[in-house]
Order: sequence, then structure tokens, then C-alpha cells
Amino acid sequence: MNSVVKGWFSEISDELWPGQCFSLKVTKVLHEEKSEFQDIKIVETETYGRVLLLDNVIQCTERDEFAYQELISMIPICAHPNPEKVLIVGGGDGGVAREVVKHPKVCKVHQVEIDGRVVDLSKEFLPFMACGFDSPKMNLTIGDGFEFMKNHKEEFDVIITDSSDPIGPAVSLFQEPYFQLMKNALRPGGIICSQGSSFWIDAQHVKETMDACGQHFKNVSYAMAMVPSYPCGSIGFVIGCLDKKSKLSEPVHKFTTEEVDKLGFRYYTSDVHKAAFVLPRFAEKALGLC
Ligand code: SAM
Repeated sequence: MNSVVKGWFSEISDELWPGQCFSLKVTKVLHEEKSEFQDIKIVETETYGRVLLLDNVIQCTERDEFAYQELISMIPICAHPNPEKVLIVGGGDGGVAREVVKHPKVCKVHQVEIDGRVVDLSKEFLPFMACGFDSPKMNLTIGDGFEFMKNHKEEFDVIITDSSDPIGPAVSLFQEPYFQLMKNALRPGGIICSQGSSFWIDAQHVKETMDACGQHFKNVSYAMAMVPSYPCGSIGFVIGCLDKKSKLSEPVHKFTTEEVDKLGFRYYTSDVHKAAFVLPRFAEKALGLC
């Protein structure tokens, strides 16, 4: 199906968000190709800047990507007392890498992305995110995050799964065996943070992902961010910690306003960190948090 009709891209998915769609006015299709794993399209839009689409699902837009990238990165990193070694799974646009390397305590970052073409094209068309790959802290592997995890034991302090939605190559990253592998790959006290969808779209799916996490992590939480280009304008993160007593909503590292500005954060502050865990009552009930 041609996803750009009369100059408008419409994000239609009967599987992921039936009966609704978000549309953007496209001024130019910059690139499209079919990689080994997915359809990749990069478009210029009238009001959201450049947009990365995988299988016709919006991954990130120039206008609002910072909201997602900053929260999925800083929530687990700032909740950890010593986040020296970080693993990113997915994240081929480089935006999460860009945020993770900013943190002064992070010394080494390993990233495993399944599709090398997403990385190459992001470097060519989306340099404002792909600049994350340039840091000397970074080490990138092209491969499947699920398979990669099987070969790593007690190695990382924080694991961030910046995956596409649970269709295609990303399905395994939302299921219980993956949470077990992540648990094994963490050092004591380790924290994971995974793209966890929005409860406005499918609260049952969010709950199932949290339950899968809860089978291996005794301390599980959900935080949310406002991101206008994601379905229903919001997205959430499933966060698990090996340490039962850690309060994930309480940042261990608190940034001053000066530090926030110096590090270039536009969404994340220590207050936003705490507030991200405060959920509406109906969501607390739907996710089994009360
Ligand atoms: N922020 C985006 C969102 O929430 O939709 C995700 C952005 S990032 C581009 C998602 C990346 O996950 C894609 O580049 C995709 O190739 C990668 N990915 C999907 N399945 C994967 C897997 N099994 N292992 C590693 N990377 C995977």
C-alpha cells in the first residue's frame, strides 16, 4: 500500500492501532528502500521536520524525538547509582546513543541494532540523531538483540531497549524469555528500560509486557512521556530493577537547572523523572499497579 497519498502520510495499522491514524503532510520523500528486515522510508514533512518510518510506522520525528530519547535513556541511568556500562538494543537512528553518552558516569556503551541500513541511512539523512554514534564511548554491533543477549552475562549496569513496535523483528523483545536474558546480562543492582507502548492504545499489551518483566524482576514500574507524533500522543517505558528496594521514580543523580541546560536536555529534568511515574487512576488499575 502506498502510505503517502495526495501528499499526506497516514500511519494506518489495523494490527497496532485499529480504527485510528495520525497523518503528516509530506513535502518530500527523501529515501525509500526495502532492507532485509523492513521497509525504510525517510520523509521531509511540513511541520515535524524529517521523519523515519519503518514498515510505515513512525519511529521518530525531528520535532519531538528528544522527548522519547531523553526519557528512555535518563530514567534508568539516573535511577542507577553507578551506571558505568550501558547496553542499547535497537535504536538504529542513534538518538538514544546521543543521550546516553552525555551522562558523566557512563564510561562504555554497547549498542546492538538488527538493521545496518537504518544506521547508514540515519547517518546520511538524520545526523541530528545519528551524531550519537560518533562518541568514543560507543561500540556498535549489527545483529539481533535477543541473540546478542544470550552471550552476555553479568556485564551491564543498564540495558535500554529502544525497539520498534511488537511486530516483525521486534516481537521477541517484548516477551518473557527476553526479560530473563536481560536479567542474566545485568550486573547486581542493574536496571532495564524498554519501549513499552501507550496504555491509551492497548493497556492489555502494556500489562502483558510488565508481567513478562515481573517474572524476572521483583521491582517493576511504568513511566510515560508525551510525544505528539506517537499514537495517542504518548508512549511509555517498562522499567525493571534487580534491587527490590530501589525507588525507580527517585533519581539518584539529580541535575541542577544549569546542568540540564549544559547537557542540552529539552524534556528531562529531575522533576520530570519523578512525574513520569505518576499515572492516572484508570491506568494504575489497568496495569495492575494498585
Ligand atoms: N523510538 C522508536 C519507537 O519507539 O518506535 C524506535 C526507534 S529505533 C529506529 C527501533 C529500532 O529497533 C529499529 O532500527 C529496528 O531495526 C530495531 N530492532 C527491531 N528489532 C530488533 C532486534 N530484534 N534486535 C535489535 N534491533 C531491533
